[in-house]
Amino acid sequence: MKSILEVIKLNRLVSEWRENNNTIALVPTMGSLHSGHISLIKEAKILASKTVVSIFVNPIQFGRGEDYESYPSNIESDKKKLEKEEVDIVFIPDLKQLYPMGIDTDTRITVPYISEILCGQHRPGHFSGVATVVAKLLAACKPDFALFGKKDYQQYLVIKRMVSDLLIPTLIVGLPTQREKDGLALSSRNKYLSEVERKIAPKIYLSLQKASEIIRIGPSNFNNAKQELINELEAFGMKVEYFELRRATDLALPKNDEKSFVILIAVWLGKARLIDNIAIDL
Ligand code: AMP
Repeated sequence: MKSILEVIKLNRLVSEWRENNNTIALVPTMGSLHSGHISLIKEAKILASKTVVSIFVNPIQFGRGEDYESYPSNIESDKKKLEKEEVDIVFIPDLKQLYPMGIDTDTRITVPYISEILCGQHRPGHFSGVATVVAKLLAACKPDFALFGKKDYQQYLVIKRMVSDLLIPTLIVGLPTQREKDGLALSSRNKYLSEVERKIAPKIYLSLQKASEIIRIGPSNFNNAKQELINELEAFGMKVEYFELRRATDLALPKNDEKSFVILIAVWLGKARLIDNIAIDL
């Protein structure tokens, strides 16, 4: 595995690969790798002949007072995990590589509407930061495929929409959420949980499963059940930011004849803001 720190070197290597008829898959991450990331890498290796994993903690997707400064980082252990998966390149740019003119005057990409609801409403500017950095990574790597986890379902849709709108010739692949045995979605931010909070955290997925059963009986039942489900979670000391039933394709409010839904949730548990979701096809 090659470690590459500079965009220009990545450009050179992927051009060589292309000349030799390789296909390329990119897995963008913020590091602190867990089995959720590894599941994306394994799929990338199936899809393409060369795999690039990027590690970059992107400052412009964090709001003021969020955890940019304290975001968990462990590059050496990440590299070992990537070696084991036989990744071809780990791309670890610094800030100057991705924001050569600095972050304040940098070009921003905005995907309207879908970026402003749910997580976007509670984290203004977050998805613009995500879309911008992913556009840069796609430009730097020119992959055939880029893989994203549906754990961050709204992010996955924002990226799909951006790539479609900007005519970027990369196929965006979304993969299922990897979970702990007790149902908690794997996340680098689970490290922020205390021992007691960690035991409580699986209630989030349990609540999504309960909501999913209710929707299977009839989607209109969700609104009546929602407050009770929120109360249950809050009784465990969580603060529910949102708990919403949406149309799976674009997160719009579902119409009466809707068949394909996603329930999305964001909660605060101690210092951790945790998100999760569950898809339902009727
Ligand atoms: P992050 O490092 O948190 O920015 O995540 C990098 C990629 O891994 C994103 O596409 C995430 O959606 C994906 N990812 C994070 N957690 C999981 C998980 N539990 N299961 C599947 N994919 C995940």
